[in-house]
Amino acid sequence: MSLGFQQVGICDTDLSAEEPRLQAWLDKQYHGEMEWMARHGMMRARPHELLPGTLRVISVRMNYLPAKAAFASTLKNPRLGYVSRYALGRDYHKVLRNRLKKLGDLIRERCEAVNFRPFVDSAPLLERPLAAKAGLGWTGKHSLILNREAGSWFFLGELLIDLPLPVDQPQEEQCGRCVACMTTCPTGAIVEPYVVDARRCISYLTIELEGAIPEQFRPLIGNRIYGCDDCQLICPWNRFGQLTDEDDFSPRAALHAPPLTELFAWDEAKFLRITEGSAIRRIGHLRWLRNVAVALGNAPWDEENIAALANRLGENAMLDEHIEWAIEQQKRRRAENSIEVQRPQQKRLVRAVEKGLPRDA
Ligand code: SF4
Repeated sequence: MSLGFQQVGICDTDLSAEEPRLQAWLDKQYHGEMEWMARHGMMRARPHELLPGTLRVISVRMNYLPAKAAFASTLKNPRLGYVSRYALGRDYHKVLRNRLKKLGDLIRERCEAVNFRPFVDSAPLLERPLAAKAGLGWTGKHSLILNREAGSWFFLGELLIDLPLPVDQPQEEQCGRCVACMTTCPTGAIVEPYVVDARRCISYLTIELEGAIPEQFRPLIGNRIYGCDDCQLICPWNRFGQLTDEDDFSPRAALHAPPLTELFAWDEAKFLRITEGSAIRRIGHLRWLRNVAVALGNAPWDEENIAALANRLGENAMLDEHIEWAIEQQKRRRAENSIEVQRPQQKRLVRAVEKGLPRDA
């Protein structure tokens, strides 16, 4: 029976080497408002505390990059909204958790007394160090897992299990002297190799952060309205990135290169309808509008943008503040008679992507 995983690895539960790194990261407040990370403390590095009796972690990966991901065409057109490519289709949490559960059931058919539990980004668990330990790849300087044959466009999931299975060997780290992800990150979120200050990361700012996006980061966000892929896009190992064959991860038409003004006109019912079963739904309509307002502020001057923004004034104080900021940016660009909004960094990224991505992605 095929469960659709591209790779499976097994490791023990000892992540004690990670604990000082995790503590230092928390001490620097790099987790921002994700206070659950601090609350769970070192439990994230102790799978056997999460599920008592756990002896092994079965770590799996599943490709998610859809064909025709249209990276470059969306990133270089600031009138369109860019959604991180992992979120274009169905919510991966459900897909992957169901497959992991089936894997556990298959194991139970052969070993009746076994106890297991699947996790997909849903529990206090350091899934990347576990994946590295289980031999799925090495930790890149952007802190994601990289694989020699597959780059980094894949989801991770874990099955905690109380069977003493044989373990796999970790892969050798192969970033070498490359620092492309660190210098490309629009907000400088990779503050040192392997360390991401989440408070600066566009994925955190557009997904996890509930309140206002700090003004200093708004111009740097460009047209990214849900997450960011820049550190992966620039990574040379992603020339080996593989496309998914899961229908569930195919892009929804309404999220694939959508005009910002259209997105900003969605009422809550439309937002909920279009994002049903998608990971995007969890940020809610208000944060969605907040993100699109910032992107409209970063778009080339157009009276249509100003009208779309002004049309939503008065719905919510936090949103109003972002709308006013965006209108101010639009008017400044109008006064300067400037349509140039792309930062040199972004142009470099788009050029690199146009040259280097595999197949039609
Ligand atoms: S861009 Fe370079 S440094 Fe960053 S993860 Fe990829 S190989 Fe490593």
